[in-house]
Amino acid sequence: SEQTKLEWNKAPCRFCGTGCSVIVATRDGKVVATHGDAKSEVNKGLNCIKGYFLSKIMYGRDRIQTPMLRMTNGKYDKHGEFTPISWDQAFDTMAEKWKATIKKKGPTAIGMFGSGQWTVWEGYAASKLMKAGFGSNNIDPNARHCMASAVGGFMRTFGIDEPMGCYDDMEAADAFVLWGSNMAEMHPILWTRVTDRRLSAPHVKVAVLSTFEHRSFDLADIPMVFTPQTDLAILNFIANYIIQNDKVNKDFVGKHVNFRKGQTDIGYGLRPTHPLEKKAKNVATAGSSTPIDFEQFKKFVADYDVESVSKLSGVPEDKLIALAELYADPNRKVTSFWTMGFNQHTRGVWCNNLIYNIHLLTGKISTPGNSPFSLTGQPSACGTAREVGTFSHRLPADMVVANPKHRAKAEKIWKIPAGIIPPKPGYHAVEQNRRLKDGDLNCYWVQVNNNMQAAPNMNEEGLPGYRNPENFIVVSDAYPTVTTQAADLILPAAMWVEKEGAYGNAERRTQFWHQLVKAPGESRSDLWQLMEFSKRFTTDEVWPKEVLAANPQYKGKTLFEVLYENGQVNQFPLSDADPKYLNDESNDYGFYVQKGLFEEYATFGRGKAHDLAPFDVYHKEHGLRWPVVDGQETRWRFREGADPYVGKGKGFEFYGKPDGRAVIFALPYEPAAEEPDNEYDLWLSTGRVLEHWHSGSMTQRVPELYRAFPDAVCFMHPDDAKKRGLRRGDEVRVVSRRGEINTRIETRGRNKPPKGLVFVPWFDASQLINKVTLDATDPLSKETDFKKCAIKVLKA
Ligand code: SF4
Repeated sequence: SEQTKLEWNKAPCRFCGTGCSVIVATRDGKVVATHGDAKSEVNKGLNCIKGYFLSKIMYGRDRIQTPMLRMTNGKYDKHGEFTPISWDQAFDTMAEKWKATIKKKGPTAIGMFGSGQWTVWEGYAASKLMKAGFGSNNIDPNARHCMASAVGGFMRTFGIDEPMGCYDDMEAADAFVLWGSNMAEMHPILWTRVTDRRLSAPHVKVAVLSTFEHRSFDLADIPMVFTPQTDLAILNFIANYIIQNDKVNKDFVGKHVNFRKGQTDIGYGLRPTHPLEKKAKNVATAGSSTPIDFEQFKKFVADYDVESVSKLSGVPEDKLIALAELYADPNRKVTSFWTMGFNQHTRGVWCNNLIYNIHLLTGKISTPGNSPFSLTGQPSACGTAREVGTFSHRLPADMVVANPKHRAKAEKIWKIPAGIIPPKPGYHAVEQNRRLKDGDLNCYWVQVNNNMQAAPNMNEEGLPGYRNPENFIVVSDAYPTVTTQAADLILPAAMWVEKEGAYGNAERRTQFWHQLVKAPGESRSDLWQLMEFSKRFTTDEVWPKEVLAANPQYKGKTLFEVLYENGQVNQFPLSDADPKYLNDESNDYGFYVQKGLFEEYATFGRGKAHDLAPFDVYHKEHGLRWPVVDGQETRWRFREGADPYVGKGKGFEFYGKPDGRAVIFALPYEPAAEEPDNEYDLWLSTGRVLEHWHSGSMTQRVPELYRAFPDAVCFMHPDDAKKRGLRRGDEVRVVSRRGEINTRIETRGRNKPPKGLVFVPWFDASQLINKVTLDATDPLSKETDFKKCAIKVLKA
């Protein structure tokens, strides 16, 4: 009948950075099925197991459906019970706290934490509210835990963020090298494309490097398990091998590359008083980055010979040589993939720089199949967290708050007075938790993530800040999580196709979707929440008096009027939009707000090599890779003929740098922040599993996914288990200097650690492995190393 007719619409998958497109079936106001989008160039009709069960993620029985405040006897009480309240009460309570805090301590005492799962316009609206509205740079995404090192690597080597290649590289490469990446579980659809290429072209080789054996090893021609942190040395060995064997592409290097050495930051990003931080200052190479020449670089990497690197890394010499030969062979096109193995590293930025070194030395870059490819974790780590500029130090289109010209440009586009955006970067993710604990950050709003489960060292540096009586914590989410339980106020959030959306995936592809169903109860999109909250403030309450005195036309205006009813945001009348898709409350303002926000945001990047297509185009296309110039997407950047920004006759041009040359950096091996010792005698690495997305708040509510991998386990080598008198299934305590959890031992699972290392996934809220991890961060990117700390395992 008419009532039960299925409707089919496209949307990107809610989960990983692969960015598969799915076709969503709705009936009677509910999502009832999904399947892979056969028209998608990304996934060609396929989905992984998480994608197949997308239709169930919104229908867990415990959806949060109303705002809830901790109250006792009808009044807010930090130790009270969560009590349902209205949206007006929720925003009024928030606004009261925000205003009192701004008055007492200024805008540095308020903050926000978002994610690479915000839609493009949600991240943009949030960043604008914080930076242009409240005049605070204390907004950071959880991409800080995920992609910040990749951003640092791109900016240092190329001066512009995001990969030069695209997924088409997979059908053209003759070799794939996985650096610490388990694509088989984390990017399964891309892995099907790699597998297809490997199995259909016999000459193709796959090398897999990791600190433990995992499912991607099944396809490996050159499998390599290395000692944690020694990837830095292996990367330098490859550069050395290429030089020693006269395989440098001299023409390319001569025309397109500069050499530099050193760095400006040292340390492990721990609190300055931490004993490990003091140790770091003794071993790191101090001094700023300075130019060197090829001969000096050659001399620098000469120390990384095969014997010493084999000894350090534990990888046999013949395998190291076979790996280096893949890159050195001029007739072999190589695509390198990496994600958290490189990025979550105390020298994550260096790892990114060092892999670019190899591709630049050989000229294996920006041509089909030759691709140093930084994969992303989250569905819009690129599209929102990075491109929109939701980091505490960034603005849209790779601009930074510390640069006066960049601030001036943002203030002009945002139509706000000069001097509103502060020049000092705000607190990054880990620093936010520390400042909450110390009482410097008092009002804090978390959207689209579960940071209490995801952040490192949560016992010492996470939870204390949330429960600090001086602080007021607001968490917007669709389901109860560890983070909502630590909050003062919970706001019910619409998810995925319950709102209009746009994500940007790892190959610079921007994809849109329409709202297809209504969110349950009082749940609202994060965008609506941000905009409604902005109505509670006038410029007089939040902007410096001298700025308002010089710009009296802004006096008495609400932040809503200044940020969202001003500029380009309200220029698209609702009558322009397809009326079928207008039940999103964010459109109740009388204009098509998503289109307005997107077009204003796109202004930042157009003409600056970040060009986005017009808003309406994305609803027709299955995604486009920026820069989109004259209606054409760009697959390979920096190469003449493929990238419209490369000048005629240049061949290649790394235009992010003033002289058009990319940089090869001389960077040393450096030990990890914490290593096993006599007492804490094992390495711990954490990560994800195929069946669950991040902290499991969505996927653990899907019965099929829950049953497929119900509880986290501690993957351990059988000999290590035997040595401790343990058998598979035994309950154990995983203990570090910071905390401990109880879990069970798995000696036969999909992950096979070497002796001396264990792997524990972090999706399971009943086994919070981040009580155990260390909050050491890369000093350049401020990204945490979740892959290395010292623990012991004891029988429970
Ligand atoms: Fe594709 Fe990732 Fe979604 Fe799986 S989780 S369907 S690989 S986007």
